[in-house]
Amino acid sequence: MERIGFIGLGAMGRPMARNLLRGTGAQMIVYDMNPDAVAALVAEGAKAAGSIAEVAANADIIVTMLPDSPDVEAVVLGPGGLADSAKAEILVLDMSTIDPSVTDRLSKALGERGHGFVDAPVGRTVTFAEQGKSLFMVGASSNDFGRVKPLLEAMGNTIHHCGAPGAGIRTKLVNNYIAIVMNQVNAEALALIQSFGLGLQQTLDVVNGTTATNGHLVSNYPAKVLGGDLDPGFRVKLADKDLNLALDAARAADIPMFLGHAARECYGLARAAGHAETDWTVLVDLACARAGLTPPRL
Ligand code: NAD
Repeated sequence: MERIGFIGLGAMGRPMARNLLRGTGAQMIVYDMNPDAVAALVAEGAKAAGSIAEVAANADIIVTMLPDSPDVEAVVLGPGGLADSAKAEILVLDMSTIDPSVTDRLSKALGERGHGFVDAPVGRTVTFAEQGKSLFMVGASSNDFGRVKPLLEAMGNTIHHCGAPGAGIRTKLVNNYIAIVMNQVNAEALALIQSFGLGLQQTLDVVNGTTATNGHLVSNYPAKVLGGDLDPGFRVKLADKDLNLALDAARAADIPMFLGHAARECYGLARAAGHAETDWTVLVDLACARAGLTPPRL
């Protein structure tokens, strides 16, 4: 059985690594800048690595689940990174949401050194990751797809092979563009519900049964902001990053994205109000605060 390495044990990486460990029974070595995150996985049976090089030396397939493009680039291609340190062939499975041009660079650089690369960013939120019900958008050669499939099956229940390396992250940007802009549309609609004095549950029952249906209002909002929980599942800072990745890619392709730019201002306001690390559903409370309304709670 292939040995697994896992780097990045945050809100998403921690439950994913746990499910991977339990589901495959494979030998796993883990690394994170945060020692508490490593300790949590060691308690589950993983081995702690003291450095990225130690992961490279003790794993065949290495998962990266890191915040942003510079983090992944540093871990994979930086000094002392995976490419530098690997003595034998490795396969890097990057599951972070990053700039597609960085994905292309990683794929090329690793390929030139005889290593494999797969991008498999994650759809759905932390709650789904905890239940092993994530969705994956995979960019991989058919051979590499076969190698990572058993790992993905241990972490999720929906796997889409979108095409060659780079196709997974591009699919993810399209998906997140819709979800991140819809978050702001919902924030405004919920402020309107408050100002009209409508019953929250009654109104959700209506809109969740028409073409206005969206996943935020069906599951994510009731579990987070509408239930009074703003602990970060998906942080404002990361949603803002993903929106900017999509808008930058659209600008490079001369595609106008009017609503996306309006939503970006709202994420900017949320960051300026000190909510970079808050769950992204906080946009609802900010929309209500701007209008002098009580935040909606079920
Ligand atoms: P997070 O910030 O909670 O976790 C990132 C982890 O990486 C942290 O534990 C941090 O200590 C570690 N880290 C950062 N730089 C490192 C380095 N150089 N070496 C070792 N460890 C390092 O982020 P998250 O919410 O788990 O998101 C991870 C990725 O998944 C992001 O790209 C995000 O956009 C994407 N994503 C998040 C969600 C969500 O709901 N949170 C859903 C889908 C995709």
